[in-house]
Amino acid sequence: MSKIIATGAIRGAHAIVGKAEARLKEAIDAKGPNEEVHFPNTGYYLPVIYGLTGHKIEKLADMETTLKLAKELLPEVPSESFHLPYLGETLDAGIATLFAEEMIEAIRYVIGPPPMNGLWLGAADDVIMRERGIEFVDGSAPGFAAIAGQAPDVATAVKLARELQEKSLYVFIAGADAKTGISFGDQLAEGDVQMGWETRLVAFDKDIYGHIYSLGFATRAAMAFGGVQPGDYQRILAYNKNRVFAFVLALSHVSDEDYATAAGAISYGFPTIAHTDIPQILPTGVTTYEHVVSGIGFDGIVQKAVEVRGLKVQVTEVPIPVAYGPAFEGERIRKENMYVQFGGQKSPAFELIRAKDLSEVEDNKITVVGPEIDEIEEGSAVPLAIVAEVAGRKMQEDFEPIVERQFHYFINGATGVWHMGQRDIIWVRISKDAKQAGFKFHHIGDMIRAKIMSDYGAIVDKVQVTIYTKEADVLRLVEEAREVYKQRNIRIAGMSDESVDTFYSCTLCQSFAPTHVCVISPERLGLCGAYNWLDGRAAYEISPTGGNQPVAKGAVKDAAKGRWEGVDQFVVDKSAGSIAGFNAYTMMEDPMTSCGCFECIVALVPSANGVMIVNREFSEMTPCGMKFSTLAGAVGGGQQVPGFIGIGKQFISSKKFISADGGFQRIVWMPKELKEQLKENLAQRCADIGDPDFINKIADETNAVSEEEVLEYCTKVGHPALTMESMF
Ligand code: SF4
Ligand code: ZN
Repeated sequence: MSKIIATGAIRGAHAIVGKAEARLKEAIDAKGPNEEVHFPNTGYYLPVIYGLTGHKIEKLADMETTLKLAKELLPEVPSESFHLPYLGETLDAGIATLFAEEMIEAIRYVIGPPPMNGLWLGAADDVIMRERGIEFVDGSAPGFAAIAGQAPDVATAVKLARELQEKSLYVFIAGADAKTGISFGDQLAEGDVQMGWETRLVAFDKDIYGHIYSLGFATRAAMAFGGVQPGDYQRILAYNKNRVFAFVLALSHVSDEDYATAAGAISYGFPTIAHTDIPQILPTGVTTYEHVVSGIGFDGIVQKAVEVRGLKVQVTEVPIPVAYGPAFEGERIRKENMYVQFGGQKSPAFELIRAKDLSEVEDNKITVVGPEIDEIEEGSAVPLAIVAEVAGRKMQEDFEPIVERQFHYFINGATGVWHMGQRDIIWVRISKDAKQAGFKFHHIGDMIRAKIMSDYGAIVDKVQVTIYTKEADVLRLVEEAREVYKQRNIRIAGMSDESVDTFYSCTLCQSFAPTHVCVISPERLGLCGAYNWLDGRAAYEISPTGGNQPVAKGAVKDAAKGRWEGVDQFVVDKSAGSIAGFNAYTMMEDPMTSCGCFECIVALVPSANGVMIVNREFSEMTPCGMKFSTLAGAVGGGQQVPGFIGIGKQFISSKKFISADGGFQRIVWMPKELKEQLKENLAQRCADIGDPDFINKIADETNAVSEEEVLEYCTKVGHPALTMESMF
């Protein structure tokens, strides 16, 4: 253990705790001890403090307890001749630092200056944490790199960011060079790199304290996905060490405060890899491998980090001339940077996949029929048809839409290529930079083929892709494609729970909600909204031992409530006996369990004899007196809570939506934005029930916020729920 680091970290910790104390006093003087303090839209208070100590900070005065604890944790600054034999005191100093930094940042939301400023985003709310955190859980993002300081120049910064993005890592940025005041975030902005959660390049704060948001994210992940109780600090830290592959990259001059923050990160098992020659801490123990490794050149720094942290990154080789990976999916291409576009009302365009016989497909045959990119003028709108023909012994027509839906991700993965929509409403752009780098229309086919083979190799053996760019071809082929889309719609819409013997389970979420089982039927999709019955069946074909298993319905126990012997037995087995079974069509008695990823929550509104539905994106108060975040805490975690269910959005317009409780007509309130989003489906459902105006009888936040107001509104519009049988 290096003396210099320990001394620096402990000195830094003293300074930061001192600042927290001063800032707290300043805030209390300005606003009084009872002033509320919190990060935006989170149910986890100040997450690092809440996670590690269980202490809920809700007002300024609550910080006194944590401040006292931070001071107790602070070791004496060792004298120059003192030799620290182990990490213990440095780690304590690190934790004290994190507490102090989190308080300092939270106080900024009370008395300013707010951390959000230009490229700096400040705290991530729970919506972002869930959406992005799940990627850490399911492995689509292996972890994150927390970057402090600056690269030697803008080009190196851009190259480093691309390299991390290509490894699918999130890049959390905070802190500037201790001497120049320039940060990595500033450099990426100068290099015109698009930052934000969509591209995984997340700039929290120019101040090094901003890395508390990285650790706050990691801490919430442990609670939200790891099922760890607040205050169980050992498990929070262990979860992060074992499951969140994160590391700190210190790019340039490092201050005492940087050391102190790095010491905090080490407690989470996140090592520091430094470019400059700071003292190393090689003995392992707290982190998986070394704690601090320094003097690493920019060419090898990402590779070194990956080794030190023990990351296993799986990258599909996609043979195209630009960088490729999921981190590039969120990139936009502005009109000025666009070389060519397709679709989006500017030209006819569609994409289609067809299952063919093995003999009809020549693998890896990519053909462009019509002009290539270098034969068209800059700024043009060009017609486009992307037709992929696939074959495999296990490929079926039913799987076509599942694979086709992925085209969006397959195509967006390339830097400089942007894709939106599906079927015949796609819109695609290719940037000037991509063209410059040698990107051709042909490469769209290469990407699709490479990704289908890597992601769907279990069902697909051969892929050929034809790209049409002549208007006459596209217009002729789009008619055929529309007929295929129509047939697919009829096939899915025609399926009912009664029409099949087998449902599919999903137990992906058991990694964090161990008793939760989603049972997916044709009329009820998984509560995260990502898996419907066809997806479940395809996933089972693709990996027969995976998280989606067939569930034989077995004998009917109660047709109205949706209860079957086979389903109950399956749930008993998969929940290790803790859940005795469930009813699929009622929320009042033994409803399905909820993990935590539900898109919406349905909750009783007793006085209106109906239910409200709130979606995750809606952060305001709801008529049941709880915000989404509070409700989520009550409903999630794999329990059955009668009167509440977590659901996927598409379930709202299903005929089976709480059908045993009166169904669709029970809905008395939902946010306006959700209504808007589901407009078409809701209108269809209203027509089906013979009340086309029903949608307007559902209250929203613009006309009712409290339960009383919902009742008033329902009375005024003559809502059917008021005269229906009592829900109890
Ligand atoms: Fe989790 Fe259910 Fe979605 Fe599967 S379907 S990922 S178990 S919420
Ligand atoms: Zn879940």
